[in-house]
Amino acid sequence: MESAAGSCNACGATGTALMKLSLGKDFFGRTYDRLSPSTDQSPKWYCAGCSMQKNLQRDFRDISAETDKLVAGQTSELSKSDEFQRASLRVREIVALLDAAQTHSPLLASGEVARLLERLHTITVSA
Ligand SMILES: [Zn+2]
Repeated sequence: MESAAGSCNACGATGTALMKLSLGKDFFGRTYDRLSPSTDQSPKWYCAGCSMQKNLQRDFRDISAETDKLVAGQTSELSKSDEFQRASLRVREIVALLDAAQTHSPLLASGEVARLLERLHTITVSA
């Protein structure tokens, strides 16, 4: 195992395969803001379950932030109807994945994701 710490940074699981996540692009294809490897003082290692949820969490945050902008009348990725459709489907998928998960996610609260989905349902994008 390559990890020095040997435990998942999210749930603390040990004795399982860990992977260092590299999230190069965000949900909307923009370069993901992350520390460069040389200055990364606290590398993040996740077990299989948490690395999947970490990706969900990233997409949730991206979509949530763009929803805030859209509602506030600012420039938003979600003002494009195809991106809005894609984001809505993704949030629905995240809700389903969290519902299917056997254990409580240390990274994402399913209630928050459900609320985001409700917010998206109240928005009409004309394009
Ligand atoms: Zn974990």
